[in-house]
Amino acid sequence: HHKAQILDAHEMKRAMTRIAHEILERNKGAADLALVGIHTRGIPLAEQLAQKIAELEGIQVPTGKLDITLYRDDLSEISRQPIIRRTEINFDIGTKKIVLLDDVLFTGRTIRAALDALTDLGRPKSIQLAVMVDRGHRELPIRADYVGKNLPTSKTEVVKVKLAETDGEDVVELWEL
Ligand code: 5GP
Ligand code: MG
Repeated sequence: HHKAQILDAHEMKRAMTRIAHEILERNKGAADLALVGIHTRGIPLAEQLAQKIAELEGIQVPTGKLDITLYRDDLSEISRQPIIRRTEINFDIGTKKIVLLDDVLFTGRTIRAALDALTDLGRPKSIQLAVMVDRGHRELPIRADYVGKNLPTSKTEVVKVKLAETDGEDVVELWEL
């Protein structure tokens, strides 16, 4: 059941604008930047960010996609293994500072798999991570460089990140399973 609304459309938009500024500040502009969205909702987030960076800097940064799915070989949480299904990166990552984009950061296993996939393609100058929501419960030494909202959750809660592009509206909600 629905427990709380965490971010409305305006708050999500402001968070993405702030993250765009933080990325530009930390990287001293948009030169050599590339954005890689993680399927499903990291992809529209990467597109939104590229558009915001274009508005702010007049530079169109390249974007790419990674499709990583959690594979369950049994019902226990511990054995969830992320598998890489598809990669669409049509630029040379060796010259890029890559910012990975995802909707929610949880155990860190998806990002670990994403780092593996990128490493197979080359050696980026650096890899940073931006997420809309960090819900805690990390199981690996992975953290986000840019966070829309830090939201401590219990393991029985889930965060619904809805985006206009995929869900018809922009809203972040907290649900109890
Ligand atoms: P992790 O691999 O860090 O355990 O989980 C992160 C991945 O699973 C992300 O790609 C994210 O989309 C999805 N995920 C994990 N927990 C949640 C959640 O509470 N809400 C949503 N929307 N996605 C989640
Ligand atoms: Mg996901």
